[in-house]
Amino acid sequence: MERTLAIIKPDAVAGGHSGKIIDRIIVEGFAIRAMKLTQLTKRQAEGFYAVHAERPFFGELTEFMSSAPCIPLVLERTDAVAKWREVIGATNPADAAEGTIRKQFAASMGENAVHGSDSPENGIKEGRYFFSESEIVSNGADVIDA
Ligand code: ADP
Ligand code: MG
Repeated sequence: MERTLAIIKPDAVAGGHSGKIIDRIIVEGFAIRAMKLTQLTKRQAEGFYAVHAERPFFGELTEFMSSAPCIPLVLERTDAVAKWREVIGATNPADAAEGTIRKQFAASMGENAVHGSDSPENGIKEGRYFFSESEIVSNGADVIDA
């Protein structure tokens, strides 16, 4: 089994789409291993997106991510990373395929409804950024730990 970190971003929570997105997560065969509602501090958002620190949109991104509550979730499934990225669609909702979450709910490249990890290694690492080991509920099955 593999894990990915999903985040229902502030735009989607504020827009009232959390329930539909969580339903989609379940319908697509993911097991939710951890979930919480939280409002990130600017510093937490900067730490999470540290890899993008030099990008021109870093300030805008971290302002947005700390502007209102979001819902991080640890998801588990076979091929969790690739499958979740398929379900959420392209970063820019204008390019996102029909039926994807970003096509359905995202308004712009910056405010694009959901996050998904980009590798199994980052899936584990990002899960640990938001949740302690005891907050991630295991079913006892082996999880790839990078
Ligand atoms: P993804 O979330 O699809 O993995 P990236 O890792 O490239 O995309 O970027 C992280 C997040 O930064 C995006 O989801 C989006 O919220 C924001 N972002 C990326 N590119 C831009 C951009 N050109 N302008 C504004 N925000 C952006
Ligand atoms: Mg990314």
